[in-house]
Amino acid sequence: MWDRDGKIWMDGEMVDWRDAKVHVLTHTLHYGLGVFEGVRCYETATGPAIFRLQEHTDRLFNSAHILNMSPTWSRDEIMQAHIDIVKANGLKSCYIRPLFYYGAESMGINPAPLKTHGMIAAWEWGAYLGKDGMENGIRIKTSSFTRHHPNVVMTRAKAVGNYPNSILAKSEALACGFDEALLLDTEGYVAEGSGENVFIINGKTVMTPPLDSALDGITRNTVIMVLKELGLEVVEQRFPRDAVWIADEAFFTGTAAEVTPIRELDGRTIGKGTAGPITKEVQKLYFDVVHGRYPKHHEWLTPVK
Ligand code: PMP
Repeated sequence: MWDRDGKIWMDGEMVDWRDAKVHVLTHTLHYGLGVFEGVRCYETATGPAIFRLQEHTDRLFNSAHILNMSPTWSRDEIMQAHIDIVKANGLKSCYIRPLFYYGAESMGINPAPLKTHGMIAAWEWGAYLGKDGMENGIRIKTSSFTRHHPNVVMTRAKAVGNYPNSILAKSEALACGFDEALLLDTEGYVAEGSGENVFIINGKTVMTPPLDSALDGITRNTVIMVLKELGLEVVEQRFPRDAVWIADEAFFTGTAAEVTPIRELDGRTIGKGTAGPITKEVQKLYFDVVHGRYPKHHEWLTPVK
């Protein structure tokens, strides 16, 4: 990953990819306090465009605020840096990763003496859960790891330290021969995937868990808005894992995962055991939106010019 040509934005400078390094005493490396985003840029008829850059940037700064970090850049400067990094790497369609992290100015739990640093990288990244999964649906497993309690880590923040829980769940699911994990909240209700929000469909009603311990996903928000505009009922409500087993359809959403159908949970097929028809519609609609083929939401696209 580190050994390639290209540029990475670091603290306001365009640094050669191979030289974009930090010291081993970097605070975030030791204590896990940092905040980040996952953003995508897609090709449209009028050139590359970053999808919902404003919302991703707002969530990044909100995450920093929640964790009391003090980035010295404005939101506009960070948004411009996203555009610059896509251009600097000559990318048309890519994944973009901004991160605010603490430096190596001091050690110990107290973050007061530390400076908030920033980096933004961009690279090509295809279907996160595989091409076949996008087509035919993935097989997932209820995790033995519980999703965060909102009073243990701050679940509204997309924070570095929230992710060992995701990594444990994902690794367990893969080791058991599944594609992804489904995590339950501390009361046993469905929360989300290791890096995705989850939806189920019964008849024409679409249901997704509330944001108690799940991340406030921007793809989740996009899908809810577009489905409501199309007249479908979307309900934000708790449900247990067996509601997924007996659902007609299920799918994950996420910037990396986009809209990925789920065809099986815990060895039980969901619906007909393939990507469901409404899920396919949602997926098509999502790709129309991000590629600029859905005129109603062109304001979600920031052109890379
Ligand atoms: N939940 C978790 C834990 C995630 O890491 C992500 C990816 N950011 C999501 C949900 C989906 O969020 P988004 O649609 O904003 O990418």
